[in-house]
Amino acid sequence: MNAPVLVINCGSSSIKYALIDSDPQAPRLEGIAERLGSEEARLKGKNSAGERFTQPLPGADHTQALSTILERMEGRLPAAVGHRIVHGGEHFTQAALIDDSVMAAIQTTAALAPLHNPANLAGIAATQNVFPELPQVAVFDTAFHQTMPPRAYRYALPENLYAEHGIRRYGFHGTSHAYVSQRAGELSSRGTGGWLAAHLGNGCSTSAVWNNQSQDTSMGLTPLEGLVMGTRSGDVDPGLHAHLHRQLGWSLDKIDNVLNKESGLLGLSGLTNDMREIEEAAEQGHATAQLAMEVFCYRIAKSLAALSCALPQLDGVIFTGGIGENSPIVRRHVLSLMPHFGFVLDNDANEATIRGKEGKLDSAGHDGPQVWVIPTDEEGRIAMETRHCLETRV
Ligand code: ADP
Repeated sequence: MNAPVLVINCGSSSIKYALIDSDPQAPRLEGIAERLGSEEARLKGKNSAGERFTQPLPGADHTQALSTILERMEGRLPAAVGHRIVHGGEHFTQAALIDDSVMAAIQTTAALAPLHNPANLAGIAATQNVFPELPQVAVFDTAFHQTMPPRAYRYALPENLYAEHGIRRYGFHGTSHAYVSQRAGELSSRGTGGWLAAHLGNGCSTSAVWNNQSQDTSMGLTPLEGLVMGTRSGDVDPGLHAHLHRQLGWSLDKIDNVLNKESGLLGLSGLTNDMREIEEAAEQGHATAQLAMEVFCYRIAKSLAALSCALPQLDGVIFTGGIGENSPIVRRHVLSLMPHFGFVLDNDANEATIRGKEGKLDSAGHDGPQVWVIPTDEEGRIAMETRHCLETRV
């Protein structure tokens, strides 16, 4: 299938899109329709010449925004639509061609992702209005981690919570971990072996991947578990909720909101959730920004070290996401906290590998585990999985 795939990531008031050709060199048309449903709704994007545009869409809903996106396709009509779906539960271990039964199964998992799955379903419905003839494929953030063994995905909770309510670890950022670990296997002399990946963006997660299969990951039932993130706390004592409720009278909604939206880098620093600003403030001697940086990096190193237990052999570590791809400071700090692992960082390569560059950062000639920066390409991976799903369906 050579015609382009339209990749859609639909939130409750936004649609991110990218039109992706099978030729990786072909320019992508991409953008975001945001603030949908309000008078400030607008479409921001890039055309094939790389020029940026902003188009006001006052009062537009998802269907109207998709019609405008269609007008911006410069006559390159997609052959299929690939949807990013946050939660596929245990039902989806790979991408699926969307039909009524797939829609129903996504609906069933909505309880596990109440903010995301309903918005994703609304996006599918709007896309079907605008592109009724096109095949639509669901690509799940959780699917890549369905290869995790029970020892990694089970919580030590009563069995019926798992069996009857699906309470287990699922993991997220699956398309990113799948893409960067496969790419490391292609680029590295080590091939597809044992890789640790750190996806560090606004959301952050680590994974352990053996022969292209996820063995463990830091996120769990929800994307709140694991690392310190922009505004999310990551791991806390599970007793914290009861403590806050009993001692401060906080409601569950308030606790959920604080842990998801007011914690992480923002909560620790009291300043910002943005790593660039944390780095600047830390550099200027701001104590809480320095603490935020320390906790952030220590928790990444601790998570990577823990996940190494999931691998029979360690071939290397991969950094990706806005922070992983652009922050030599974070990469150096994390690796300095893992002295027993034998990573040897080349400082010049570390400083030079930023702004979308792919590269190996370890000193030449050593034969310990390698260090890679691989810019993630979640949209490209969704387009690839969409094509694969359509080409292999029986
Ligand atoms: P999302 O998870 O929303 O896709 P990104 O992957 O774009 O987010 O990552 C956003 C994070 O990357 C922000 O914390 C931002 O500060 C950080 N970042 C981007 N560029 C740099 C940089 N040059 N140095 C440090 N951090 C950066």
